[in-house]
Amino acid sequence: MMAKRLATILPDVTFEEALEITKIHSIAGKLKANRGLITTRPFRNPHHTATINSIIGGGRTPKPGEISLAHYGILFLDELLEFNKSTLEILRGPLEDREITISRINSTITYPCNFMLVASMNPCPCGYYGDLEKQCICTPYNIQRYLNKISGPLLDRIDIQIEVKPVKYEKLEKVNKVETSEEIRKRVNQARNIQKNRYSEENILSNSELTPKLIEKYCELKEESKNMLEVAFKKLGLSVRAYTRILKVARTIADLECTKDIEVKHIAEAIGYRSLDKKYINREDINEQNINK
Ligand SMILES: [Zn+2]
Repeated sequence: MMAKRLATILPDVTFEEALEITKIHSIAGKLKANRGLITTRPFRNPHHTATINSIIGGGRTPKPGEISLAHYGILFLDELLEFNKSTLEILRGPLEDREITISRINSTITYPCNFMLVASMNPCPCGYYGDLEKQCICTPYNIQRYLNKISGPLLDRIDIQIEVKPVKYEKLEKVNKVETSEEIRKRVNQARNIQKNRYSEENILSNSELTPKLIEKYCELKEESKNMLEVAFKKLGLSVRAYTRILKVARTIADLECTKDIEVKHIAEAIGYRSLDKKYINREDINEQNINK
């Protein structure tokens, strides 16, 4: 549900983006008759049984796959660990390059695939690890084998990881005043504009495109933030890639608040979004909880 709603808070599609999205859908033969420009961001959710070709693109005359159909939108992989491991590993390249080159005997075609990857997974095979009410029946070995299906390098490329607890019925009933998608999108568009102006001379549009050199220039940290990041880096055993991604996320959180400098709270929040790194690298907590049973 959250993944689907995400599409409703993404920034408005620009004219250039709409042209590219429409072109790809047209090449793939997915443009409905009499339909003009596609002006909404795509949301694609291929099933875990989908073939590699249908995900990255292929065929005799190579057609765009799901990752290109999700260009400027969302690629949602539900039950991430049910996907073929080699399919997931192939995603690493396109996630970095934002384009995919498909080679066939007679032709080589490059399609853009600047998508946002969204994925969901259970915490363990039975689904109840960490649940406060139901007990997990998995052995530490099974949990580890399960989590091992997702590789460190792929996990590294996922900026925001959060654990979601089951929602209780009573809470579903209570209708609180919440921010609507439209209100959130206003803030997102505002943050996008801040970034567009900030990078007007850098030939990039958003924080996610920051290179290491530009990170130095635009993500300057105060001493306190630096120390906090250093502790997290060592304690969580983060990779250099995860480190730069934390800085980019912190920059975005600051932009959403319309704050010029990255503050300690922004860094703290960005570090908090790396909960799977902790699980993936430091598995002792899994062993402790399940041995105690
Ligand atoms: Zn379990």
